[in-house]
Amino acid sequence: MYQRKKDSFRRVFSLLLCALTVLLLAVPAAASADETDGQPLTVGVPVNRCPLFYLDEDSGEIQGIGVELMRNVAEKAGYTATFRVIQEETLKQALDADTYDVIMPFGSAITSASGQQSIVTENLMQTPFAFVTRENSTLPPMDRLRVGMLRSLGGAIETLHQLFPGMEIMEYDTMAESVKALRRGEVDALLHNSYIWSYVLQKPSYQDLAVQPSKVFSMDFRVGTLDTPKGRSIVQRLNEGVAALDDIQRQAIILDYTSRRLYRYDISDYLYQYGLVLLLGVLLFVALIVIAVQQIRDLRREQEEKLRQMMDHDPLTGVLSMNGFRKRVEELLHEHPEAPYLLFYSNIRDFKFINDSLGRAAGDELLRFWAQRAMDTLSDKEAMGRIAADHFVTLRYSGGEEQICRDERNVVEPVNQFFLRQGKENRVQICSGVYVLTPEDFKNIDVDRMLDMALVAEKRALESRQSSFEFYNPEQWDRGKRIANIVNYLPAALDSGDIQVWYQPQVNYNTGRVIGAEALCRWDHSKLGWLQPAGFIATLEEAGLIYDLDRFVWERVCQDLHRWNEQGQRKTVSVNVSRDDIREERDIPEVFHHLIETYSLTADQLHIEITESAYAENPELLISTTQQLQALGFQVEMDDFGSGYSSLHMLKEVPVNRIKLDLHFLTSSGDPEKSRIIVSAMIQMVNELGLELIAEGVETTEQADFLQSKGGGEMQGYLFYKPMPVNEFEKVDGFFHIEPSAK
Ligand code: C2E
Ligand code: CA
Ligand code: CA
Repeated sequence: MYQRKKDSFRRVFSLLLCALTVLLLAVPAAASADETDGQPLTVGVPVNRCPLFYLDEDSGEIQGIGVELMRNVAEKAGYTATFRVIQEETLKQALDADTYDVIMPFGSAITSASGQQSIVTENLMQTPFAFVTRENSTLPPMDRLRVGMLRSLGGAIETLHQLFPGMEIMEYDTMAESVKALRRGEVDALLHNSYIWSYVLQKPSYQDLAVQPSKVFSMDFRVGTLDTPKGRSIVQRLNEGVAALDDIQRQAIILDYTSRRLYRYDISDYLYQYGLVLLLGVLLFVALIVIAVQQIRDLRREQEEKLRQMMDHDPLTGVLSMNGFRKRVEELLHEHPEAPYLLFYSNIRDFKFINDSLGRAAGDELLRFWAQRAMDTLSDKEAMGRIAADHFVTLRYSGGEEQICRDERNVVEPVNQFFLRQGKENRVQICSGVYVLTPEDFKNIDVDRMLDMALVAEKRALESRQSSFEFYNPEQWDRGKRIANIVNYLPAALDSGDIQVWYQPQVNYNTGRVIGAEALCRWDHSKLGWLQPAGFIATLEEAGLIYDLDRFVWERVCQDLHRWNEQGQRKTVSVNVSRDDIREERDIPEVFHHLIETYSLTADQLHIEITESAYAENPELLISTTQQLQALGFQVEMDDFGSGYSSLHMLKEVPVNRIKLDLHFLTSSGDPEKSRIIVSAMIQMVNELGLELIAEGVETTEQADFLQSKGGGEMQGYLFYKPMPVNEFEKVDGFFHIEPSAK
């Protein structure tokens, strides 16, 4: 059934097309004949009503169903029609203009804008008018309908008013505005010629609009002009043309224009239709570009890295090249500015002989083996390079003598026996020169200079024939070893009792009484023997470990004081506070306060010696610490007074109780007479400032007598007692004896 309908439609369609072709062939012939014969007739038409009237983009001519129909009618009436675009806003206004002989289209005769009557021709065709609403909406009855129409359809509007007086008609300047009004709900429907709808609704963003097929009505499509004698005559002649227009011709024209795809997409249509696809496309494109750029960059980086690797690495062994080693060492020294580094320059004794006797390949194999073995022992804080034939350089983190033994076992020996293990008789010998890095080397990094020094040592090792390695700077190595021994052994020593607190009694020379003691530490080191503080205090200060030691000493002193209190022998002891102990984050006064609380002591039993040098570092902190200690009842003493750290200024600033005058600093050198003058002036000054005074380092009776004559009676020194272990100190009775040797 459907197929049959389709076939018959096809037949009609092809018939129409044939007719149209004949017509199209005939029209130009006729037109050319009429151009000479026909009387000219200017027809004013709108051009915003595709497919009825529009401007063809390609030819720039006015075209459309209306144009084609009118051309035929005019021709049949003996006119040659010329079409002009109506410039006026409405057809009503256009009627008044004398630019056009006739105007179209009209549904019926209307009055012109100036109020003149018009007349119209017979109907050229019946034009269906249709309502368009938003999809799924139903229409109210016609006489209550609010309808939107284009202002330019003035004629039709007037006709409609006559047909449906109850209908409310709103006028809009453009189709877009009318559609907006419909969407906003200002009107129930839009009304327009359905040929025009067939064109307008092709716009993609109007997909939500639907034609209401139930409410269609038709309007006439006529040509009009003012009701004048000339107008009447034209209309009369045109009516003959209309009568001569046959229906098939009319239908063919309509079909021709309605079947053309006249709607042209503008940018907004494309955006609406393909916006998402376009956006995705753009995103994809951008993503592709980003990926491509990234890949190019990666590739370049990879190539650069490869190139760098090639330049920085030795192709034979895989260790660094000279260039790579230099760079890496610089990096490492920057990253680890206080590391105990050693720089090795190593080569194989008589390597040339190995190459000559066993062949180059065997030599290369040995070098690879050596590099591999050595690399296995290195951490990422270390580096190894080959700078020529069998010359290897290594930056090694010093792990003391144990590490050297380990390297000997894991690297040097296996390399030395490399050929022996293969059953050959060649014993290899690695010779190394070692340079121990100094703090200076980290400040002024010069890898070549350090290598030169390691090379000098390596030459010595080569010459010596006895040892396989030599140090360029053995003192540094010894010092390093010693530091490592002190720093590494401290925790164990504090635990095991290797560190002891000794006491050196203090006396009043006037009364002959022992008045207190200074606590001094001693270290019975398992490797280095008995150590005096001078040998390790500075090292611990540098390593940031002195606070561990001092807390141990303070606690031990408090334990001793507590025991003596229990035994009914109250004593007073001075303890040393290192300048490194006094830091913002540590509350030293609170530490002491806690100690005396813990051991039930009174604050006056502890004298706290703070060395004069602490003042130079952080005066504000030192002053506040001193004040807090005093507020807690502790006596604060200024140690090593006279040793040279802005002493006088400090006397004014820091509120100490007692000055500890170091005779050693004041009398060890220079003119003895001048020393005496200085010492007596100092004693006088301290007295006048109202401070207490104790002189330390008193070795002779002359010194003691002199001090006494100047008013300084309290003393500490070898003349009276040397520092002694606690059990000896406990035997010291209340009065001192001058050591016979000192007399
Ligand atoms: P210091 O605080 O000035 O201690 C006095 C030093 O002079 C002690 O040396 C003592 O043995 C020595 N001495 C005492 N009388 C005489 C004498 O008549 N003649 C000579 N030539 N020397 C005498 P020591 O015990 O070797 O301590 C040296 C320095 O080490 C101390 O100087 C002190 O600054 C520091 N020290 C000692 N023990 C500790 C401690 O537990 N903690 C801290 N932070 N430093 C300490
Ligand atoms: Ca002291
Ligand atoms: Ca001192």
